[in-house]
Amino acid sequence: MLKDVLSPGDCAKCGFCCSFRRQSLHLTPLFARETVDEISRLHPEARFKTLPNGAVTINIDDQYRTGDSEEEAPCPFNKKGCILPGHLKPFDCKLWPFRLMRRGDGLALALVPTCPWIEKDDTAKFKATALSVAKEAMDYAKDHPEIVIEYRADYQVVE
Ligand code: SF4
Ligand code: SF4
Repeated sequence: MLKDVLSPGDCAKCGFCCSFRRQSLHLTPLFARETVDEISRLHPEARFKTLPNGAVTINIDDQYRTGDSEEEAPCPFNKKGCILPGHLKPFDCKLWPFRLMRRGDGLALALVPTCPWIEKDDTAKFKATALSVAKEAMDYAKDHPEIVIEYRADYQVVE
């Protein structure tokens, strides 16, 4: 979570980005491969799955209890806040509300559309924040290319 664009108070009231509806499963965080064994030792109850591109994410597919498309299933590390220590937290979660996307031959930082508190019209603030994290994000993606997701038209590219 980027404190420059989101207030901890707003997030405390919300918590939406640490639980997922079925149609939002493409937003689950992607974990650095080198962290998965340590996380599994600390939290053996958490389950992971490997996606076709080799990325590793949480497996919460069987956590839905109803047929309601609005039902949310929590990330297994969401216990009234994230219980993962900083060095094990997915880069995606540190980067939120941005996501690194592949667009054409390049990479782009885009705003995740589901965060209800984002003031999408404050373009200058988001641009400035995106600029401040872009290099770190691009560098991270060089070592972890599997965390880059394909471009989606409902995301607002900011950098
Ligand atoms: S969805 Fe947005 S406002 Fe809600 S907890 Fe996540 S970052 Fe905060
Ligand atoms: S890993 Fe932590 S911050 Fe990321 S979605 Fe799960 S609970 Fe939230």
